[in-house]
Formats: sequence, C-alpha cells, structure tokens
Amino acid sequence: MKKTLIPLLVVALGWTAALGMMAAASKKAEADVPVVYYSKEISAAKIQAAYAKLGFKPEGKLGVKVHFGEKGNENYIPPALLKDLVTGLKGIFVETNTLYGGPRSDAKGHAALAREHGWGYAPVDILDADGETTIPYKGKYFDKVYVGKGMSRYGSFLVISHFKGHGTAGFGGAIKNLAMGFGSPAGKKEQHSGQVPTIRHEKCMRCGTCRRVCPVGAIDENYNIDRKKCIGCGKCVTYCPYEAIDSAPSRSSGEAFQEKLAEYARAVTAGRKVTYINLAMNISKACDCSSSAPKPFVGDVGVLASNDPVALDQASFDLVNKKAGLPDAFKHQNGVSGEHALEYAESIGLGKRKYKLVELK
Ligand code: SF4
Ligand code: SF4
Repeated sequence: MKKTLIPLLVVALGWTAALGMMAAASKKAEADVPVVYYSKEISAAKIQAAYAKLGFKPEGKLGVKVHFGEKGNENYIPPALLKDLVTGLKGIFVETNTLYGGPRSDAKGHAALAREHGWGYAPVDILDADGETTIPYKGKYFDKVYVGKGMSRYGSFLVISHFKGHGTAGFGGAIKNLAMGFGSPAGKKEQHSGQVPTIRHEKCMRCGTCRRVCPVGAIDENYNIDRKKCIGCGKCVTYCPYEAIDSAPSRSSGEAFQEKLAEYARAVTAGRKVTYINLAMNISKACDCSSSAPKPFVGDVGVLASNDPVALDQASFDLVNKKAGLPDAFKHQNGVSGEHALEYAESIGLGKRKYKLVELK
C-alpha cells in the first residue's frame, strides 16, 4: 500500500466507528422513549388489550387506584368498563378519604358510595381507614409525604385515571390521581395549601353557586372567602357561572400547586411497581370530586396506557388539545394551564414528556 493511503484509511475507519457509535446512541435514545398505547375505541376489550401491551407483571397484592366519583357527579369512569380487567387480575380497588366532609370522608361511607356507584364487583380498600403514615421524600416542598397506612399491604398498583379538567390544576390524569389519590387527608391538605382563590366582587352576580358547592362552608353571605377554612379545592372556581373567581392568586402559587402534585406522585411511586391507564372520556372542565357533572366540552378521545405516568398524561393532554383544536383546551376552560406539572414532573424524574404513540388496531 502506498504510504499516502494509510492516513486516509485511518480517517475512514475512524469515521465509520464514529458513525456506528452515533447510530447505536440514537437507537438507544429511541428505545428509551416511553411508549403510550392508544385506542380511539373505548371498550372493556380495548382496555384489556392496552393493559396487555404494557407487559406488567404484578407482584403481591394488586391495588387498582380509581376514583369512585363524588355523589351527584356522573362523569366518572363507568365501572363496567373495568370489570373484566380488574376481576381477571384479582385486583382490589384502593382509595383514600377526602379532606372535606361528605360520604367519601370516612372509610365506611366511602366504600358504601363505591358500591352504590357500581364498583362492588371487586373488594374496596380505603387505605387510610386505619390511619396514615409517612414516606420520606426529599423535594422542594416536602421532606415526607402523608399516605394511608394500607399502602404497605400492596406489592403493585394499577393506576386507572379519568383524564379530565380540574379547577386549580388545569387538568387531572395519572399524576394527579397518584398525588391526591394516595395522599391521606393530611397529604391532600398540604398539597392544597396556599391555593385560596379570589372572588372578584366587580364581576360577582351574587348568584350563590359558590356557596352551595363549597364543601367546607368557607364563603360567607357577603361572598368573602375565609382563608382559614378554605381547603383550596377549586370547586367555586369551576362552578362560578360568571368567571368571577380567580383560581390561583398568583402564577407562582398555581405552579407551586402543580409542583406539589408532582412531588407527591414521585414520592408514592418511588421503588414501587406501578403501571397506568388513562381514560379520556366525558371530558368536562371539572374533577370527579365535584358534586355535579358539567357537560363535556370535547368528545371522547380514547384509552391510553403506559408504564410512564408523565408520558401518559402528556399524550392524553396532546390528544385532547388536538380534538378540541386548541393549544391548551383546559386553560381555555379553567383559566389555568396544567402543563407546568408535566415539566416539573419530568425535572424530578417521575417520567418523560417525550413519548411514542402506538395505536392499537
Ligand atoms: S358563583 Fe360567582 S357570581 Fe355567583 S356568587 Fe359566587 S362568585 Fe358571585
Ligand atoms: S377553593 Fe372555593 S370551594 Fe374550595 S374550599 Fe376554598 S372557597 Fe370553598
């Protein structure tokens, strides 16, 4: 070989190796992108098919986290849709009591409402029936989170969330179901702290709706909110027909609420075997914890499933926006964007916003 060809050969070999490494790295990056399985059709069979794709192998007792629906609200997930999946897996429905009064504020009433709403085909376990405990967590807001004692009875969780709006979080999906759903009343309280809304008296028509929906009687006859009584649930914001109540007194406190949700979600999933399904249907602006069901503002989107809660919520959010033809359909409804929860959740390692959508045929 001529002497002048040798350096060229070395350069060429170097380039080939570099290109090979780059291809391998890009393949790995591609493999690391979480998959979200999606079916436009919402049926028991499609939910089972989506779950099967996850390759999830429960260990120990399987807790199935759902929201049973508040009394008077029919927008919650129709229980019959989950019957085959949950009974087939021998799952146990798990929930925690509410911070405010009503049938879901104590274990007995909560379980009775679950049966009344059609969830009685599987056992119901209210995780804080025997009190609460803490999980250590080092975050920006917490050094521990408060959960129901009963969590320790379970080896795995399947978190099935109704993807819909929420007055103070913009929207609620898997992240919110983890955070508020596993948080005991003390946990719910610390997540909601600082979320006292503001009534704009110049817009208020004194219709009385906010006083009727407030679960803790925090709004007086002159339409002032008692900051000590308010638990920051956002129901008054959602139901005011004249948009006279601002959800978060400042952008920073609204974002802080979303960050707290993400931190709770991170804490309750750390070291646990958990997988997720979202049902994007009956999508109204209000949470299922509201005592009446506002009409959906967009048609049903479908069943989504993933092992990554952030990717799952991001995909659900994107598909709802696409269907509504808006960049942020929930902000349009509730005046607050929930996107910061996704950003923050990713930054603390709960999951990834980038996803690969695989449609089930
Ligand atoms: S619901 Fe709205 S308009 Fe009606 S009384 Fe309350 S703040 Fe005023
Ligand atoms: S946010 Fe509104 S509805 Fe909820 S407790 Fe406070 S005043 Fe009552």
